[in-house]
Amino acid sequence: MTETFTAMVIDAVDGKPKGAFREISIADLPDNDVLVEIAYSTLNYKDGLAISGKGRIARRMPMIGGIDLSGTVIESRSPEWKAGDKVVLNGWGLSETEWGAFGRYQRVKPEWLIRLPDAFSMEQAMAIGTAGYTAALCVDALEKWGSIKPGEGEVLVTGAAGGVGSVAIALLAARGYNVTASTGRPETHDYLASLGASNFIDRAVLAEKGGPLQKERWTGGIDSVGSTTLVNALSQTMRGGAIAACGLAGGADLPGTVLPHILRAVTLIGVDSVIATREQRLSAWARLARDLDPAKLSDITTTEPMSNLPQLAEDIIAGKIRGRVVIDVR
Ligand code: NDP
Repeated sequence: MTETFTAMVIDAVDGKPKGAFREISIADLPDNDVLVEIAYSTLNYKDGLAISGKGRIARRMPMIGGIDLSGTVIESRSPEWKAGDKVVLNGWGLSETEWGAFGRYQRVKPEWLIRLPDAFSMEQAMAIGTAGYTAALCVDALEKWGSIKPGEGEVLVTGAAGGVGSVAIALLAARGYNVTASTGRPETHDYLASLGASNFIDRAVLAEKGGPLQKERWTGGIDSVGSTTLVNALSQTMRGGAIAACGLAGGADLPGTVLPHILRAVTLIGVDSVIATREQRLSAWARLARDLDPAKLSDITTTEPMSNLPQLAEDIIAGKIRGRVVIDVR
């Protein structure tokens, strides 16, 4: 084990947060019970905001970025974990309030970890990452709500070519739902169709302000865009249907009315992956293990070295990333 390693650290530059590489000593890591040797992390939209400084993600600085990790336990003061265990961690405030995964080592709390599912390698688990695990939480939430039925009606997925959207399409299609993908990139239609989308809608159509009660179309939906897109999705949802909302790639505002909710009993389900319960996490990962075809996962994934993070951060904010990016921190 080396004593120091390179990490992507968010720190204040001229009063604003910005990511840069820095040498960190293992002795500097927080005094949490489990020391993990990290193999892979991922690039998420939130990482793009944190590293580029375009969003205030780190609530204290300096902060090691990276919200997801897969790796191997090398020391544990907790009876729950022992050296050699292969583990995954998603969220729990990493890169916000807790030091994160863009570096070779991290000390974490035992309750943040789950066992690496047998179905996945460490690289595949990070190909899924927070984006994919959030997509699974969204499908779980919609099925629990009960308005979507395999083979009946249409389920909308917005931000379709992004990380959450791509995995959501694959998971829904695997269970037999008819998926309509909303994307601003027509060149991704073949890719989205290969994941299981059967219909397409231009994202500009959903981004335009529309009436409060539009023609009913969706039995349910997964939205990672927010703003007018989410408002239109709700206004087009069938009586008793639900939209699971998890993102804000198009904006954090919600410029709509209560009419879909009070006149059509439409439900807006909020999905937060960061502080999800252990039960929700295990359920989402079980769905991923059951329904995500490893061949499809490999089609949506690229693996990049940690040194490319500054450029990748700009790219994901600019909406140029397709699918999922694994970060090799070794
Ligand atoms: P990506 O950048 O991979 O995907 C976002 C997609 O949204 C893009 O690919 C694009 O899809 C679409 N998009 C981007 N900009 C706009 C815009 N201005 N207007 C409309 N659509 C746009 O990000 P992720 O999939 O990783 O994350 C998506 C969102 O979900 C982010 O806001 C992220 O913060 C949030 N998130 C929330 C989580 C939670 O716990 N609640 C967990 C994970 C993510 P296309 O090119 O197909 O149009």
